Amino acid sequence: MTILASTKAEDGFARSDEKPVIELKAIHKSFGHHEVLAGIDLSVHAGEVLSIVGPSGSGKSTLLRCINLLETPTNGHIDVCGTRIDAGKPIPRSQITALRRHLGMVFQSFNLFPHMTALENVSFAQKRVFGRSTRDADENSLKLLEKVGLADKAEQYPSRCSGGQQQRIAIARALAMEPRVMLFDEPTSALDPELGLEVLQVMRDLAEQGMTMIVVTHEMAFAEEVAEETIFMADARIIEQGSSTEVIRNPQTERANSFFHAVN
Ligand code: ADP
Ligand code: MG
Repeated sequence: MTILASTKAEDGFARSDEKPVIELKAIHKSFGHHEVLAGIDLSVHAGEVLSIVGPSGSGKSTLLRCINLLETPTNGHIDVCGTRIDAGKPIPRSQITALRRHLGMVFQSFNLFPHMTALENVSFAQKRVFGRSTRDADENSLKLLEKVGLADKAEQYPSRCSGGQQQRIAIARALAMEPRVMLFDEPTSALDPELGLEVLQVMRDLAEQGMTMIVVTHEMAFAEEVAEETIFMADARIIEQGSSTEVIRNPQTERANSFFHAVN
């Protein structure tokens, strides 16, 4: 017991000295006069899982989209694996590419290429981005499909796969880019609960293997189990932030309290 506790503490110290892989400072985002992010600060260290929860419309997706620059923040700055983006200045294309190289993203809707098999979906960008031969890419893709439990679906088209299988193919496709961090935006909310579970299991495995992840989710049990830290967002702001168990089980604000009551 003692040994375990002290290992954990040392680990904790080591991490707090390390530079975060993702850091957001005072991120603002407005659409016209509508302020959707009103000053978000967060940091994620290598190997950590951060969950983001909160009511619909609170800015969770916009926050994820700002991290990979699918949306351009109106103010503040972002650092992803040493690539620093200052909002308000023109962002060179090369910096956007550099930043995205580190990030894998999985959406609520799976967004697979419908005219490609599972294997081709996973191989496609490896050939484009890494210049791999079809043979090398396919060999790697098969390993990734195996990792998400779908080696037997390699030759299937997405339309022949269940929603849970499609989402797992999407995860394999994102992993094929060898990202440092995986971003998930409600990856199970379009799925029947049963199919959601198989996706959550793949995500749990990834976290256990040390993948750094930011997960927007309504799955509180998953957040509590897998994410060290949870952020509760409402009205464009972070309202609560801390250990997942504390935030979910013992929220300090009325806003968070009523949200967690409603979802549980
Ligand atoms: P969440 O993911 O927490 O449900 P979103 O980030 O999707 O919240 O949306 C936050 C707010 O920003 C919502 O009011 C939404 O209507 C608005 N919004 C999101 N994207 C756009 C956009 N491209 N143009 C205008 N408003 C947007
Ligand atoms: Mg959303």
